[in-house]
Amino acid sequence: MIRFIFLSLLLTNYLFGQTPSAGRVKRHIEKLASDKMNGRGTGSPENAKAASYIARYFKKYGLAPLGTDGYNQPFTAKISRVVVPDSLRQATNVIGFLDNGAPYTIVIGAHYDHLGIGRQGSSLETQPAGKIHNGADDNASGVAGLLELAQYFSKNGVKEPYNFLFMAFGAEELGLQGSRYFLNNPTLPLEKMNFMVCMDMIGRYNPERGVGIGGYGTSDAWPTMFKGVDSTIKFFTDRPGNGGSDNASFYAKQIPVLFFHTGGHPDYHKPSDDPDKIDAKAEEAILKLEIRILENAMQQPKLSFTAVK
Ligand SMILES: [Zn+2]
Repeated sequence: MIRFIFLSLLLTNYLFGQTPSAGRVKRHIEKLASDKMNGRGTGSPENAKAASYIARYFKKYGLAPLGTDGYNQPFTAKISRVVVPDSLRQATNVIGFLDNGAPYTIVIGAHYDHLGIGRQGSSLETQPAGKIHNGADDNASGVAGLLELAQYFSKNGVKEPYNFLFMAFGAEELGLQGSRYFLNNPTLPLEKMNFMVCMDMIGRYNPERGVGIGGYGTSDAWPTMFKGVDSTIKFFTDRPGNGGSDNASFYAKQIPVLFFHTGGHPDYHKPSDDPDKIDAKAEEAILKLEIRILENAMQQPKLSFTAVK
């Protein structure tokens, strides 16, 4: 009997130990959005530090590097919204591949850059220069989601019928530059991609609004994937897939997308977008909802793209 209980515990841990957890979500966000990270502005040493933080987890989860320099895919980003002497900045995407030996691949992405100390444009603060824009919701929350999904799919002991490409994009705040660079210089052929799931700002769940899921119209097959999906949190779907974040770059290449977003708030693009305002418990529920949709989608053949009018 004792041996049986022990074995069940082991098995339970093996099967369910890797599901998204609010505790880990919180720790990732607190780390990436701490004042020490100086707002992860493009070209800053802290932005590079955030990239290595992500690569370290990709390595821990056994993902194969699919950048052009290990996990990194370096590129030059350009600041054009404000005039600065150093408008060209070194940036990088961070790319890890979970190879299940399948013909097609699901892309999961989130940007990790933010507005730094308010000298690269896009801040909504009146006097932004010199103030740390922590970007806890935008988009440490999405990166935490990316890492949790990477952990789940690489450690769940299941060989899924699709591969996964996990991507953290640089220079999104400068106009989707990382995702655009990747799509023009892909390290995996675009025709091998099934669809792309993007997370940008999933940490400020508002129970009245619910979590928005954009891109519902980008494949006629999406409604099938949502069949029977219930969740402890409220969600709604929205047809367009061409706005909001890096999903727009994939949509432009006719790849179906889903875009998860908990909505705007008064701290958006301000120094007050801080970790203590994150609802990690709700983010955990959002990630579990994503897993349910992904698992449904993996029962189906590769999606075909539909343009949303
Ligand atoms: Zn963002």
